[in-house]
Amino acid sequence: MIYFDNSATTKPLAEVCDLVYQDLRDDELWGNPGSLHELGTSAYKAYIKAKEDIASCLSVREQELVFTSCATESANTAIRGYLSRNRRSGRTVITTKTEHRATLSVLEKLSSEGINVIYIDVDKNGCPDLDMLKNSITGDTALLCFTHVNNETGAILPLKEIIDIRDGSNRNTAVYVDFVQSAGKLKIDLKASGVDLASFSAHKFHGLKGSGLLYVKNGIRIDPFILGGGQQNGQRSGTESLYLLRSTALALKMSQEDIEGHLKNVSDINSYLRTELKKRGATILSPEDALPYVLNVSFDGFESETMLHCLERYNIYVSTISACSSKTKKISYVLEAMGVDRKLATNAVRLSFSRFNTMEEAKIFIEKIDEIYQLFALR
Ligand code: PLP
Repeated sequence: MIYFDNSATTKPLAEVCDLVYQDLRDDELWGNPGSLHELGTSAYKAYIKAKEDIASCLSVREQELVFTSCATESANTAIRGYLSRNRRSGRTVITTKTEHRATLSVLEKLSSEGINVIYIDVDKNGCPDLDMLKNSITGDTALLCFTHVNNETGAILPLKEIIDIRDGSNRNTAVYVDFVQSAGKLKIDLKASGVDLASFSAHKFHGLKGSGLLYVKNGIRIDPFILGGGQQNGQRSGTESLYLLRSTALALKMSQEDIEGHLKNVSDINSYLRTELKKRGATILSPEDALPYVLNVSFDGFESETMLHCLERYNIYVSTISACSSKTKKISYVLEAMGVDRKLATNAVRLSFSRFNTMEEAKIFIEKIDEIYQLFALR
């Protein structure tokens, strides 16, 4: 199997699976971290240690992290929770139309509840119009919502510029950033970034589904989304799942090992595929300077879904628009917002890599593309 659909999800590491298996059988780790007896204390200690490990990978303090069930929950909590808690900061949110649905759906709902949502344009590379951003921030702007790396194209957000614009326009405006597709692939220093709220998802960096993270910068207050027993300092009630936390900590920690070397390997794979695919008449829709882990490509003469199923016959897995919305049969709203020609967008396929993909797989991929073109030419 050649798996080029790592933006949808990644294969859990064997080490992660082993840890979960051990944890579930461990005599000291199955207690409730909230219990006052010794069993609870062991679980609590392990829980704090897992938080510290994650915090150290992201350059934050463990108190600034909240464990959630997924990045979608983190996005919902961050956006809704911030606006609800900080009513006096304003009633306007600025974003783009290329955000993940986890952000856009929340904002659509909030808009129906009276929040003013401004969508700034993105250019052909998916980069937000920074002049428009500057001109749109007012005293009423409570929150900016952006994505660090776009899940469909790999476009990288000019985060520093955005933070500078915020700092120069309204320091009371908070910034929420979705780091789901960059975590484990780029070094992230949240403290230095200037971001106030951020989300992460373990299954995108070879951890498990059902485990997300929310970063809430020290001093930022949000209303909780899930109410109950007051766990996690009241920020997210519900008994903490120790094996999920520990598996996320391990997956994130392992993703940091030789992160630069992996980036280089994936860049080589990406460059090779770009060159070979262009020779075969395909159009590359990802920007030149995108994160190389994502390569969006439009195949001449093949609708996205046809190409996906042709490749599937060779045990090669890719994706059309994005896994969450690929059954809707529309063109990608991300490509649409970038102004990509409709025909090209109809034929767009996303290849997304992990640190475990190899150049050999890329070469086989190209061989199979040639076979597919030959097969169809014969008909
Ligand atoms: N944000 C981005 C950029 C994503 O790619 C995804 C998943 O596809 C999400 C958020 C949602 O993540 P989760 O599956 O953890 O809810």
